[in-house]
Amino acid sequence: MSDNIHTYDPAGLRERFPEMLQQAFDVSPPPGWVPLVARLLERIDPALAPEDRQSFRITQIKEKFGGLRCYHNGGEDIEMMVDAADEEAQRTCEVCGAPGRKRTGGWIAVRCDEHAEV
Ligand SMILES: [Zn+2]
Repeated sequence: MSDNIHTYDPAGLRERFPEMLQQAFDVSPPPGWVPLVARLLERIDPALAPEDRQSFRITQIKEKFGGLRCYHNGGEDIEMMVDAADEEAQRTCEVCGAPGRKRTGGWIAVRCDEHAEV
């Protein structure tokens, strides 16, 4: 268990990926993006070389300006996976995970038609 028990993790991703997320101070993807974030972390894990696994850490996962941000200390191959997940996120409703698109009002958010008015 992490001793950082008060850090933000509403979706319980730390329990599923304790090593990668043990030094993360913020794991707060919007609810509709949790499945694609979980898939991203599942892809990263086997891609890590054994010598990198000990040191690989993610520090933050969140939404910003309608895109997925995942900050980590991995290499370019990991960044390409993050980019792919970000592309998927930009087509995925943050609220429910249905196909969506970017909406701009007072903010930028990815929403499906049903959740367009929030
Ligand atoms: Zn939706």
